Amino acid sequence: MFTEIRGLNEECGVFGIWGHTECAQLSYYGLHALQHRGQEGAGIVVTDGTSLRPVKGEGLVNDVFNEEKLRAAKGYAAIAHVRYPTAGGSGIENVQPLLFRSSTGSLAIAHNGNLVNANHLKQHLERSGSLFNSSSDTEVVIHLIKKSSHSPFRAKVKNALSLLKGAFSLMILTKDMMVVARDRNGLRPLALGKLGDAYVVASETCAFDLIGAEYVRDVEPGEILFITNNGVEEDTFVEKGERAMCAMEYVYFARPDSNIDGVNVHMARKRMGKELARECIGLEADVVTGVPDSSLSSAIGFAEESGIPYELGLIKNRYVGRTFIQPTQELRERGVKMKLSPVVQVVKGKRVVMVDDSIVRGTTSRRIVRMLKEAGAAEVHVVISSPPMTNPCFYGIDTSTAEQLIASSHDVEQIREAIGADTLTFLSAEGMVRAIARPFDEPQGGLCMACFTGKYPTEIFPDTVLPHEKEY
Ligand code: AMP
Ligand code: SF4
Repeated sequence: MFTEIRGLNEECGVFGIWGHTECAQLSYYGLHALQHRGQEGAGIVVTDGTSLRPVKGEGLVNDVFNEEKLRAAKGYAAIAHVRYPTAGGSGIENVQPLLFRSSTGSLAIAHNGNLVNANHLKQHLERSGSLFNSSSDTEVVIHLIKKSSHSPFRAKVKNALSLLKGAFSLMILTKDMMVVARDRNGLRPLALGKLGDAYVVASETCAFDLIGAEYVRDVEPGEILFITNNGVEEDTFVEKGERAMCAMEYVYFARPDSNIDGVNVHMARKRMGKELARECIGLEADVVTGVPDSSLSSAIGFAEESGIPYELGLIKNRYVGRTFIQPTQELRERGVKMKLSPVVQVVKGKRVVMVDDSIVRGTTSRRIVRMLKEAGAAEVHVVISSPPMTNPCFYGIDTSTAEQLIASSHDVEQIREAIGADTLTFLSAEGMVRAIARPFDEPQGGLCMACFTGKYPTEIFPDTVLPHEKEY
């Protein structure tokens, strides 16, 4: 069992294409666009109508694939995946899509998200004779499909998925069918597009833009699509639940050029910055600067609304990986330094508003405040474009346990003191919902905000485990 305390992690990205002879190459480009969602490993499984062929490896998309490997993966459909780092589950055998061969036909599966009843289902399956190699959600899904008494294959998959609780955006590939499904709450994003006559599916629409595909629509919560040479069959595997798309996708994870449920991520972040500026009553400062890259959009919005000029006060060193890939606190602290540099000419002697998207453990903010002060900033006012994060995420965003979240044990004033800021303001939950402005009437615009509010959109079981606590 993996017990070491771990930090945050990006989540995974999935991509699929049906009906294109360059499916492997296009998947490679699709994964490139989704690289920000996971850097630990990448894989593509292709079908040529008779068999499934995997190409995968550890590392970045560019390291895993080359022209020769992609050319050899001939076929007309593929599913693909980029994986986030899970310290307990690294290794090539955990790089998705996972391929399962059996006498009744092979299938490959790729998914993004975390199930809350995986342990429960696993125990039930074990009692009826299933043997597990790991506690990965994927294995649970495969066993459920295999064990299902329903027939034919489509009914087996529907039956298996109907038993799952929690978050998943999932794709299955057999030699002649691609199955695409999104959990009943729509916790993780998943969109459908077209490239000529081919169908494409991706975690984020930025993958469509990169390959020149056209966005068609988001996959609906509880929806399942069966894509074959006869087209797309739309179905549902479970009654739709309360819509609860992860708010952190808009705040931090997704790329600014992606649209989720029709809402552009950059524009949503910009509006969060504007809302935040309206909530910072009486704040006086000389410059606004954002922490690159995820906070630049909200910093622009903040500057626009407050009238305080936007400046490039912090520069990112492009060639250093994301801070959170490094596992220990010591390395993380060093990583923050390696990653960012202050522009002294911008901040020296100034009252600086530093916009960041979130405070999780407080490490990043504390380091940056210190960095800005060392560069001569007269005052540093930290403004955060999301509410205090007080609860863990059970849906695939690896925000660690509650004890590690600074806001679970500190109030705003105590956090301000801990990070050394002159003032600290968080965006209110209402301001965030207003800013994201989703086109749904449901409560909170159909957003999951559980890590800020503690109100989880699904049942949480006593044996629900966080992603990093799973055994691999
Ligand atoms: P911390 O230093 O622990 O307070 O983390 C806050 C920083 O991490 C912010 O600058 C965010 O941009 C970033 N962040 C927020 N959520 C995540 C996540 N789940 N994975 C990686 N980074 C994150
Ligand atoms: Fe996203 Fe937070 Fe909900 Fe997890 S708990 S899905 S991070 S909004």
